[in-house]
Amino acid sequence: MARTVLVTGGNRGIGLAVAQAFAANGDRVAITHRGSEPPGGLFGVRCDVTSVDEVDAAFTAVEAELGPVEVLVSNAGMTDDTLLLRMSEESFQRVVDTNLTGAYRVAKRAAQGMLKARRGRMIFVSSVVALVGSPGQANYAASKAGLIGLARSIARELGSRSITANVIAPGFIDTDMTAELGEARKAEILGTVPLKRYGTAEEIAGAALYLASDAAAYVSGVVLPVDGGLGMGI
Ligand code: NDP
Repeated sequence: MARTVLVTGGNRGIGLAVAQAFAANGDRVAITHRGSEPPGGLFGVRCDVTSVDEVDAAFTAVEAELGPVEVLVSNAGMTDDTLLLRMSEESFQRVVDTNLTGAYRVAKRAAQGMLKARRGRMIFVSSVVALVGSPGQANYAASKAGLIGLARSIARELGSRSITANVIAPGFIDTDMTAELGEARKAEILGTVPLKRYGTAEEIAGAALYLASDAAAYVSGVVLPVDGGLGMGI
């Protein structure tokens, strides 16, 4: 049965691949976008996840057009890498406000409709660095680790209403976010990945489809790594 799916940051990269996979599955898909126009074929709502008002307006627009959100993919995220001693308070707060507090804002708003429907799926896009850490990414890794506590608390709080909350922890995926890494850093990273390649956005989409599927009805509070084996054993 077709569901209403909202993917934050669904205008490019992993979010776009996730949105397209749900659309190909026959679901009604909405994405959030900011500066750029929405990609063709998807219902776009302008939303910066750092604004509670914009999050609320985005959900209201999706509800009016497609119905209450049944599957939320909280994907919007950013990096602002630098070493700890050079990291400003503003940078730390901006990254946490986008990646973690932004996820809290969309999850809280999505919960309204899911509680009424007494079912729902929340999927949070974290990162392997939430578990293993990463030099130069204290702000980013902290925000991504916070998503695990957020998701697991939601899983416990809303589980009795058939709402699941799960986390995907991607490894290094070929998108704009990783394109900016230098060649030396890329080679260093690939050396640590058992599969010896970057992942694709479509491979993250596959995990999201699974977590939203009937097959995953009894899966809640998990952290699902999709990282070519990079983080195993943690
Ligand atoms: P991109 O940089 O390609 O895309 C990031 C997306 O997030 C864009 O759609 C962007 O919108 C959106 N976004 C950023 N800030 C905000 C905001 N304040 N409000 C709303 N939307 C926002 O990155 P990826 O596709 O690679 O990353 C997607 C997610 O996956 C992120 O959470 C990232 O941390 C995570 N991830 C990525 C990995 C990788 O290797 N690529 C590895 C592990 C996790 P806009 O176009 O308007 O800027």
